[in-house]
Amino acid sequence: MAMNIKRPNGTEDVLPRDVHKWHTVEKIARETAESFGFGELRVPTFENTDLFLRSVGETTDVVQKEMYTVMAKETKFTLRPEGTAGAIRAMLQNGLLNEALPQRVYYILSCFRHERPQAGRLREFHQFGVEMAGSPAPAADAEVISLAKKILDRLEIKNVELNINSIGCPTCRAKYHEALKAYFEPHKEELCDTCKERLVKNPMRLLDCKSPICQEIGKDAPLIIDYLCEECSTHFESVKKYLTNLGISFKVNPKIVRGLDYYTKTVFEFITTEIGAQGTVCAGGRYDGLIEQLGGQHVPALGFGMGLERLLLVMDKQGCNYLAPKKCDIYFATMGDEALEKAIALTAQLREFGYYAEYDLMGRGLKAQMKYANKLGAAFTMVLGDNELAEAKAKLKEMESGEETLINLDDKFVATFEEIYFNKMLDVIDDENGSLFAFTGEEK
Ligand code: ATP
Ligand code: MG
Repeated sequence: MAMNIKRPNGTEDVLPRDVHKWHTVEKIARETAESFGFGELRVPTFENTDLFLRSVGETTDVVQKEMYTVMAKETKFTLRPEGTAGAIRAMLQNGLLNEALPQRVYYILSCFRHERPQAGRLREFHQFGVEMAGSPAPAADAEVISLAKKILDRLEIKNVELNINSIGCPTCRAKYHEALKAYFEPHKEELCDTCKERLVKNPMRLLDCKSPICQEIGKDAPLIIDYLCEECSTHFESVKKYLTNLGISFKVNPKIVRGLDYYTKTVFEFITTEIGAQGTVCAGGRYDGLIEQLGGQHVPALGFGMGLERLLLVMDKQGCNYLAPKKCDIYFATMGDEALEKAIALTAQLREFGYYAEYDLMGRGLKAQMKYANKLGAAFTMVLGDNELAEAKAKLKEMESGEETLINLDDKFVATFEEIYFNKMLDVIDDENGSLFAFTGEEK
């Protein structure tokens, strides 16, 4: 029967030949976050729907149009559309916020949003995200932004512009909402249905509408930055000062409002123009009211999410380096059953020491086996047949140079292999101007 079930629209498969790209981004992101004191948090893929209603916000596109929700028995669950809500829920539920502050977590997870699939916009996508809870200080904003920047730099991603803005606190927001209402009121009838409702409930969300008509109407709308209270304004000035001191360049973009309701004060996006319309590779900000809103104490917090698919699109486009995928260290080509048994035994010994070793499992002829070894990119091969077994010696062939060394198939086999292997590695290091990583595939 033909297999005609395809993966759902807006989802992707990652094949073994490409997974090293993901490993590169995940490894660099993890290591960098850990060097800033963040520890990994793992949370469930679905949560009670109410969690997202109360955090992301009922008037956002995400909640109104994009969530995957199921009714199971009596309860409504939603596949997480983002990471922050679940992370904060977990920090609260497990008492992390009663421990020494700030609490710093990072996560790598999939998110689900029913959006129109296009380049850089999927229905299941992946985020690397961080949350820092406890510090109201502008230095914390700069710290979190500098972590995102450091990850992008270590991945050697270029031409990404940091855009920052402040969207104030509830005090500044109240005055601003009035100004927005006054601005949009005369155009009320022209707005999309969702925005008509937003005008009453949450006018700032109008600025985040994707409808071209609403965007055109909103283009001269008042800017939140002109309505900041003194505290928010001083906070923003300090964030800018710290970023400048850190040598991180940025642009103040008063149009950034972010698509989720929980943000306060600093918001930011790292944007590239190199991958089409979906150019925001990282987005985040401060959310001082969220933890309280979810039933905790007043604990100021902030974080960001990086879209991993978008990062990889940029890295591919820019020809960035990835960690080399692990290549076969040695392939045993065998002739006959006894030789196969020997290959199995030698392979097992080598694997004990962490080598990637293979032998024929397809019953191929010698020539076809060697062709396969070439495809694998094996660094060494060894042919085993009746002669080799009888003499307990075989030729170890270094594939690149073609150089062969006759070695004993005795209990010193692994040690002998190791010596030859490391000599080759030293040669490669010389060729690569001292880069140890070229050969081991451990680093770029
Ligand atoms: P956008 O304006 O691009 O829709 P957003 O404001 O909805 O983004 P956030 O909720 O802040 O995005 O998510 C953080 C990051 O996750 C984004 O900057 C982006 O890199 C990535 N992201 C968001 N939605 C998607 C998606 N549907 N497909 C792929 N990546 C996404
Ligand atoms: Mg979106």
